[in-house]
Amino acid sequence: MANVTELFGSMVFDDRKMQERLPRTTYKSLKKTVKNGEPLDISVANAVANAMKDWAVEMGCTHYTHWFQPMTGVTAEKHDSFIYPTDDGRIIMEFSGKELIKGEPDASSFPSGGIRATFEARGYTTWDPTSPAFIRDKTLYIPTAFCSYTGEVLDKKTPLLRSMERLSDVAVQVLHLLGKNDVTRVTTTVGPEQEYFLIDKTMYDKRPDLIYTGRTLFGAPAPKGQELEDHYFGSIKTRVSAFMNDLDEELWKLGVFAKTKHNEVAPSQHELAPIFETSNIATDHNELTMEVMKKVAEKHGLVCLLHEKPFAGVNGSGKHNNWSISTNTGENLLDPGKSPETNLQFQLILAAVVKAVHEYQDLLRLTVASAGNDHRLGANEAPPAIISMYLGDDLGALVESIVNGTEYKRSDGSDMLTKVNVLPDFKKDSSDRNRTSPFAFTGNKFEFRALGSSLNIACPNYMLNTIVAEELSEFYEEMKASSDIESTVKEIVRKTLTEHKNIIFNGDNYSDEWVAEAEKRGLCNYRSLPEAMQHYVDRKNIDLFEKNGILNEAEIRARYEIELEHYSKQIRIEALTMVDMAEKNIAPAVISFVKEMTDAALAKKQLLPGASVFAETQLVEELSNELEAFVKKTAELKEAAAGVKAISDSLEQATYCRESVFVLMNELRALGDSMEQKTSAKYWPYPSYGELLFGV
Ligand code: ADP
Ligand code: MG
Repeated sequence: MANVTELFGSMVFDDRKMQERLPRTTYKSLKKTVKNGEPLDISVANAVANAMKDWAVEMGCTHYTHWFQPMTGVTAEKHDSFIYPTDDGRIIMEFSGKELIKGEPDASSFPSGGIRATFEARGYTTWDPTSPAFIRDKTLYIPTAFCSYTGEVLDKKTPLLRSMERLSDVAVQVLHLLGKNDVTRVTTTVGPEQEYFLIDKTMYDKRPDLIYTGRTLFGAPAPKGQELEDHYFGSIKTRVSAFMNDLDEELWKLGVFAKTKHNEVAPSQHELAPIFETSNIATDHNELTMEVMKKVAEKHGLVCLLHEKPFAGVNGSGKHNNWSISTNTGENLLDPGKSPETNLQFQLILAAVVKAVHEYQDLLRLTVASAGNDHRLGANEAPPAIISMYLGDDLGALVESIVNGTEYKRSDGSDMLTKVNVLPDFKKDSSDRNRTSPFAFTGNKFEFRALGSSLNIACPNYMLNTIVAEELSEFYEEMKASSDIESTVKEIVRKTLTEHKNIIFNGDNYSDEWVAEAEKRGLCNYRSLPEAMQHYVDRKNIDLFEKNGILNEAEIRARYEIELEHYSKQIRIEALTMVDMAEKNIAPAVISFVKEMTDAALAKKQLLPGASVFAETQLVEELSNELEAFVKKTAELKEAAAGVKAISDSLEQATYCRESVFVLMNELRALGDSMEQKTSAKYWPYPSYGELLFGV
């Protein structure tokens, strides 16, 4: 491997390259846009475009692309070459500020949720100068936002950028009232921990369910799963290690701070954690990370599965969204400091987050809802579908003392005595970890843990930023009318924590008691996407987004439609894939095996009239019965899947998918898996769980 410090960012048009290649004034005004959010001038864009192009061409690029994040759930790109014809019939390499700023992909084939009729095909991509351009496959990638001709937002990045600006504006106002006049900008930071599976490509190629849906739709459990707990943090296999090294290198080139890698709980499951960055860049980098993971895996004869639940019976994959807020003066607003009991600023921010999570638990829940993640939430491997907050012992005690007006007693931040002379003693963390909470305070940040592994983190983060901005703006209104800021803030904190402490839960979120307790507390428990998603368009939520300038009502309704439709389409594809596998391969395989058993029994009888054919007969009988049920269930599922498109209302359609189609899928699977366990491996048409999970 080349020198890592040189390798890092070598494919990125980063700050250093801009300084080297841009005139000083251009560089300065670009920096102003990036750092302070000031509008960008076209002359600046022209100069930047030219410098970017020169660098890209030197690096061997022939094309550029506006890279964006439409509502499809994956990123999109359309490549244009830099070539420009000259009068003498030759070409030069050209790239203008206009081309940098604005792209015009045909928008008609991207989901718009009914905002735009297909004949109004125009859509625009707009350069996002806050996220650096980079090179992949001889193409210059320019991160952009995407909107329709009439200006409606059609992507995930725009609401994120808007929410970051909104939160900054209100937080700065609040901080100024608290005497922090030097703060001019506040940014949110995110470090997303990414889980994934790696399986052998040759096995993957034999599984249409993995190919079409990303998860196994049939598959009896292997004799061994994750029960020995020997995979988590286990030593990394050579082939996986080679993949991980390659992945790190590719990500480093792209300026992604890939930091930690380890094996996860399930066999074949792994994790990558980067160092945190501003939310916007963290989002782009997480999208890149997922894409690069897939590409690098291919090079190693592997397939990277990012689905939330590729295998039944072992853990699925999530993504932990570590989120914090910091000022341009370098202060982390979620850092409690040495004495949180006297740190009013921290208490105020904490109160805002507590209130936000309580009042908008539905939004946090629905932003992590997906057909894939529905398999995890509430399944004792991921946080439950009930949103609550974990504050730990210290902050928990602080909240109690504020609410009850009693003295605050900190738990002992005592020394950890290893009791072995050669091992150094060290300070313990102030609280242990709680792996079961969906939203946990972890020292100086919150860790939102309910995200599915394939989710674009822009969505949960614009929700988080918006709801906290809303609460801070409400606090600001109260504060600015006050002549005694200190007592007003104390009162806001006390009142807010008292009214909203029901969202705080420091116990075991996996327990049944919590489900009952949460119900008593009036917390939402939306088990599936259709149940959760309908609250997107609740009046209070539409008002929230409109008031804070994040999305308008039409855009929210469009998103609601897109999410529901996407869910129904996914379930339908899964159902059709199951039917296909059942009819074309599984049923015929079982029939052939039953025939072989029958023939064997008959032949045995002929040869040795007195011999027992008990084993063969029993197997033939059991399999024949199951096969009959299986074939009938397949027909039922086929019919149910055919009914999906007949329902025009998208919520009704999604609910039907969940309550009818999905239920039949589970029943069909149970029958299929039972037959797999009885059928000779020689006949079974698909690689087994054992081969898939332990094949690398
Ligand atoms: P833990 O081990 O408690 O999960 P780590 O320090 O390992 O904590 O951090 C986990 C993730 O949180 C990493 O991606 C890290 O970069 C990120 N992180 C740390 N500090 C912040 C912060 N201030 N804002 C956002 N993410 C952060
Ligand atoms: Mg963590």
